[in-house]
Amino acid sequence: MLSLDEVLTRTLAVARDRVIAEVEKVDTFDALGRVLARGVVSALDVPPADNTSMDGYALRAADVGAAGPVLPVSQRLPAGVVGLPLQPGSAVRIFTGAQLPAGADAVVMQEQCQALPDAGGGLGAVRVDVVPEPGQWIRRRGEDVQLGAEVLAAGARLTPQALGLAASVGASRLTVRRRPRVALFSTGDELVMPGESLKPGAIYNSNRFTLRGLLQAAGCSVDDLGIVPDNLAATRDALRRAALHSDLILTSGGVSVGEEDHIKPAVKAEGWLEAWQVAMKPGKPLVFGAVRREGSQGENDSEALFMGLPGNPVSSFVTFLLAVAPVLRAIQGCPTAMPTALPLRADFDWPRPDKRREFLRARVNAGGGLELFPNQSSGVLTSAVWADGLIDLPALQPVQRGDTVQFLHFGDLLGR
Ligand code: AMP
Ligand code: MG
Repeated sequence: MLSLDEVLTRTLAVARDRVIAEVEKVDTFDALGRVLARGVVSALDVPPADNTSMDGYALRAADVGAAGPVLPVSQRLPAGVVGLPLQPGSAVRIFTGAQLPAGADAVVMQEQCQALPDAGGGLGAVRVDVVPEPGQWIRRRGEDVQLGAEVLAAGARLTPQALGLAASVGASRLTVRRRPRVALFSTGDELVMPGESLKPGAIYNSNRFTLRGLLQAAGCSVDDLGIVPDNLAATRDALRRAALHSDLILTSGGVSVGEEDHIKPAVKAEGWLEAWQVAMKPGKPLVFGAVRREGSQGENDSEALFMGLPGNPVSSFVTFLLAVAPVLRAIQGCPTAMPTALPLRADFDWPRPDKRREFLRARVNAGGGLELFPNQSSGVLTSAVWADGLIDLPALQPVQRGDTVQFLHFGDLLGR
């Protein structure tokens, strides 16, 4: 048996040599979920000038030594309007986001002032009812981003907030890596699709939906080859087709040791493989390798990576998160480290631990502790929907209520 860490060392060593070379420029508008191939460097300070974070009055703090003075209002500055320098002894009516006039060094919020209107239609005056601190309610030029700073690094996945940050420095186009192309198929003669009738002995193909969704959520373009029958010729044929246009071929089922499991001989015939028994639960059988690409040109382009996941729905889901997601990150040039686990209190007992490292489906309760889904069987997909993530439990480690355990959020595992 191989540990999950050993598995990752071996798969990532291969995957890191196969970073997708093609990059493309896309509109920042359309870049959600993509991976930056080039960092984003700011050509400006953000904010570009000192501005007010409150509606109120800009003034010189030195002009208000004690509460109560009345200052004439010399200008009115809504956001987007740049004013004239402040005349000492006066105040400027100012609104959130407006650039601070030169000479002003504080803003007093309007709630702490009394506006004294001018019957003649002028700007009137203001009574300042507090003593301002110099600098108060001012957002400084460059306090968010400084000119020349790299705000997003190559390898970063573009979250909504990352797109916002890119936009805030004026980036209208971003250089991203081509999406990974992943060919997906399910093996199993018992599988039928939702919408078809469930003949005796059949089950619905759930992995196709789970894995396709995981791939899409990970930013891949999916070539879905459907269900492949349990025989060697059909499996080999599917592999050859899958290899034509993909960086990675992902399958579920057919990786055990039964004579109905054809993935291993098929991949062996069409490329190379390593078949592992991984010391994890759920999971265990995992195939890693590559399939030759017909008519390929260069060396880098000569094969598609292959990963074969176990058929049990929870096993394939968990193995994807722990073993496939890091490989997808590696071929996109992203950091591949396992996300940081959160130490949380176990609100359950787990008296009979397994010989393998276990990944238990768990949920965070209102008290900040972890609860387990009652049935941890690898066939019970309900557990994966109920849970927020996985408890990473070392082999042979029992848990008593109140112990601290390590928790991995599904979202972090997928690599937001
Ligand atoms: P296998 O790895 O092919 O031996 O399958 C292990 C278990 O997972 C069997 O009970 C299969 O029926 C089930 N299984 C395999 N593929 C799927 C699938 N795509 N959707 C749902 N269950 C599956
Ligand atoms: Mg099968």
